[in-house]
Amino acid sequence: MDLNTPVGLVSRSYKMYAGRLSKLGIFTIYDFLLHIPFRYEDYSLISKIGQVQAEELITVKGKIEKIENRYLRRWKTLQKAQVTDGTGTLDVIWFNQPYIPKAIKVGDEVSLSGKIELDKNKLIMKSPDYELVVDNETIHTGRIVPIYPETKGISSKWLRRQVYKVLDQFKDLQDYLPKETLRKNNLGDLSYAINSIHFPKSMQEVERAKERLSFDEMLKLHLLSLKRKKEWKKDKVNPWKIDKNKINELIKILPFELTDAQKNAVEEILRDLSSNLPMNRLLEGDVGSGKTIVAAITTYASFLNGFQTAFMAPTEILSSQHFQTLDNLLSPLEIKVKLFTSGSKKIDDFDVAVGTHALIYKKVQFKKLGLVVIDEQQRFGVEQRAKLRLKGKNPHILTMTATPIPRTVALTMYGDLDLSILDKMPKGRINIKTWLVPPSKREGAYKWIKEKIEREKDQVFIVCPFIEESENMITVKAAKKEFERLSKEVFPNLKLGLLHGKLKSGEKNDVLNDFKNKKIDILVSTPVVEVGIDVPAATIMLIEEAERFGLAQLHQLRGRVGRSSRQSYCLLFTSSNNPLTLRRLKSMEKIYSGPELAELDLKLRGPGQIYGTTQHGTFQLKVASFSDIELIAKTKKEAEILFEKLHKYPKLTEQITLGDKKVSPD
Ligand code: ADP
Ligand code: MG
Repeated sequence: MDLNTPVGLVSRSYKMYAGRLSKLGIFTIYDFLLHIPFRYEDYSLISKIGQVQAEELITVKGKIEKIENRYLRRWKTLQKAQVTDGTGTLDVIWFNQPYIPKAIKVGDEVSLSGKIELDKNKLIMKSPDYELVVDNETIHTGRIVPIYPETKGISSKWLRRQVYKVLDQFKDLQDYLPKETLRKNNLGDLSYAINSIHFPKSMQEVERAKERLSFDEMLKLHLLSLKRKKEWKKDKVNPWKIDKNKINELIKILPFELTDAQKNAVEEILRDLSSNLPMNRLLEGDVGSGKTIVAAITTYASFLNGFQTAFMAPTEILSSQHFQTLDNLLSPLEIKVKLFTSGSKKIDDFDVAVGTHALIYKKVQFKKLGLVVIDEQQRFGVEQRAKLRLKGKNPHILTMTATPIPRTVALTMYGDLDLSILDKMPKGRINIKTWLVPPSKREGAYKWIKEKIEREKDQVFIVCPFIEESENMITVKAAKKEFERLSKEVFPNLKLGLLHGKLKSGEKNDVLNDFKNKKIDILVSTPVVEVGIDVPAATIMLIEEAERFGLAQLHQLRGRVGRSSRQSYCLLFTSSNNPLTLRRLKSMEKIYSGPELAELDLKLRGPGQIYGTTQHGTFQLKVASFSDIELIAKTKKEAEILFEKLHKYPKLTEQITLGDKKVSPD
């Protein structure tokens, strides 16, 4: 067994845990060491029992004199013990942990850490952490104790024991960073850092360890990007011919002029296509910045070179919307655009196939796939492309995202991709008037909405509270209930529709088409539903319990309206009276730029919130932070230096290879 052994192969009992451990990102023995505590409990103060005082958080060591289970009413139990160390005797109790008297017996030497309380004039210790003392060593008590992220069936205590065992067994962790790098960046060595992040002697040691480990984490991310970029460029392709005249003709028939940002992005893309390397570009642009048209122009270039294009979106609604846009634009140019849904039969006569991600694996026979466009997603994995390559295809890839992440962060997260940013909005857009609405103004707001609909034929989105990360029955139920309430009590004379993720795709399309065709005035929807839908006539967005959303998310939702020249509105309902929350939400009234809001959220709530777990699960950093711009810059520079001579550092190379396997999405 070595550090890279998968946990499942270590022993039978580990094998049982392997599934749960993978949820924590633990796949190999080494990963135990990289499972970083999220906080510590300071149990380092050890006291004689005779000297303990009320309210102290301390550790006592002694011999168990008595221990028993007591049965209380309603199946509740109480565990009572007495421990002595020669200076005194202390009463200890736990609640509902009947297994403790089985684990600890009279006569055992134990160590107990917890709070001393005064109970009917007597000092007692309530619910302490406990362990048997063997060879005078303790893991869970009597020191600064690490508290780990847990998952069902895996407790922090269990993890702590495993980490301890691994550290004990692999005392000498070999450093993979060159001494020169450590010296230059004033970093401690790896063994020290890992030992002190788990079992520190002081909190200063933790800080020092974090410096080293976050440097490593960010450095590895950069190195991994460089490696992937290099691999991507190993393949050569035949350069495409770019017929500027034809492309300009298409641009000319658009009902609007491209923004400078769109023109730039098109330039960058066409340059990629005319080189002999496959394109791997990310097009980042705020909601409504006009990414689709850039992708449509790219699609046209693919057609002009005799290639087919796969145009993919995360949901069927979005793909049918893209289908309409592309079909309108491209079919007059004799380009065959086809929509593939879960119900479609096999079709193979097309130039552009539009559909969800299933498109490229299942249904569709590509004869000459030249371009893959992926909307509203950050990553089209290296391995997805490897699969395509196995099928003899080596397409150019354009991914699009509206996730407003600051440029430095984007360059780190997606360092293996080339980046184009649409940082200018199309002309003529009016800022969406945004108001924070407290409970006292709710009725007034409903009345105002009713009038807007009746007098000016406005159309409204009402987004229900964000309850769960992913769309599940709880969220759907809440939306249904709100829909009933609004239909019966608030807007009885208006037409309401309900949209949620558990509807069949045909039903979703019907609701959405009814909304587009103005058969519905108010569309009540769950928050996770359909980030990209484009209903230009909609002008009012009402968001319930706005405080549950990040600013970037609110901005994305707000971006569903304001897509025409009509004045649009966003109403943020909240019942929070926390001044910080209100201030955060208030910034929506003044700031209209996605990246700016994202940056603000980054400051106010930290990166975990923006790049939430569902969308960007692969980028949960363990120690480092994407808000640490200085660290990002420093490690980037170092990565570029090291990458040039990576062959000299086999252990570092191994780290990168392992990382490559682990970070893979899906
Ligand atoms: P997103 O970047 O959010 O995907 P879309 O591509 O859906 O944005 O574009 C939003 C709307 O703006 C669409 O209705 C589109 O036709 C329109 N649009 C795109 N580019 C321009 C432009 N340069 N000028 C005016 N309107 C534009
Ligand atoms: Mg879009």
